[in-house]
Amino acid sequence: MSCATPLTDSFDRRISYLRLSVTDRCDLRCAYCMPERMQFLPKSEVLTLEEIYRLALAFVARGVAKIRLTGGEPLVRRDVMDLVRALGRKLGDGLEELTLTTNGTQLAEYAQPLFDAGVRRVNVSLDTRDPDLFAQLTRRDRLAQVLEGIAAAKAAGLRVKINTVALKGLNEAEIPQLVEWSHAQGHDLTLIEVMPMGDVDGERIDHYLPLPAVRDQLEQHFALSDIGDSTGGPARYVRVAETGRRIGFISPLTNNFCATCNRVRVTATGQLYACLGGAEKVDLRAALRSDQPEAALATALDEAMRIKPERHHFAIARGAAPAQPRHMSVTGG
Ligand code: SAM
Ligand code: SF4
Repeated sequence: MSCATPLTDSFDRRISYLRLSVTDRCDLRCAYCMPERMQFLPKSEVLTLEEIYRLALAFVARGVAKIRLTGGEPLVRRDVMDLVRALGRKLGDGLEELTLTTNGTQLAEYAQPLFDAGVRRVNVSLDTRDPDLFAQLTRRDRLAQVLEGIAAAKAAGLRVKINTVALKGLNEAEIPQLVEWSHAQGHDLTLIEVMPMGDVDGERIDHYLPLPAVRDQLEQHFALSDIGDSTGGPARYVRVAETGRRIGFISPLTNNFCATCNRVRVTATGQLYACLGGAEKVDLRAALRSDQPEAALATALDEAMRIKPERHHFAIARGAAPAQPRHMSVTGG
């Protein structure tokens, strides 16, 4: 596919990676992500699958080579596989990788169809393997389905990366076992610091666990050696001598990784957020639904490159409003 004007922002960063939310809805209610009574968007505001597809193609035409479907929970959107299959047909034709981030509850059903559509890697979020803690953290009793989903993904030939939010006093003590288990299953694991995005029912700071402390804890169990970042993403990686596999650390609060940012995010309503931690956005839905969608989209994408900020300014403090009022599930985490 031709790539007339690759997306490059005003800090000379090439934007080659799109995180595309297909829904803000979810079948879990992770306590650090959303309140129990989360208000989801009316369906009328959400892009149709056909609109999402057209948007994705517009990005690919501007040099985006990797698309990650996310949400909310991408696999709760009805007919999402139609979109996956349509995008899968673009692999090798401008698109190099199609992947998704999922909570895993539906993966047992979708793993094989995802593989058949051309998906080769998935990120599965798993914060604990303790059924009671899982039910407490997600407010739903679904650990067995998630573990079944992860096993199905492996059996289907998908490479799995486990994403774990590090939570003080909750899964903190379990993290070394989670690493051991993931690595034994053949999966790398990435740890994430909880980020102040959107209101939740409790105080996030009560469970905020800085990853440098987690690394110190892990070093009492494993021999860790730093490895260079091969993905251009926000994670810093170490190799575990005992298992041969990797642990990633995503530390938006303790470590700034914005200089190499290669991504933008689009919400399920077609709002492009230029930065996960910022408010800068352009309305791609309006562009898509205008009289001249192609021209309007091109202008909107240029505008997004102009406004993409140099870096995020996350901070987490007791009693303070979240740094970003929108939830991760809305932005497409
Ligand atoms: N529902 C899917 C899932 O859980 O994998 C995809 C969307 S979810 C918003 C994507 C990732 O964001 C998950 O790994 C989740 O743990 C993480 N996440 C959600 N809220 C977060 C927050 N406030 N801080 C850090 N990570 C968060
Ligand atoms: Fe749902 Fe993912 Fe948020 Fe958990 S983290 S509530 S699974 S969107």
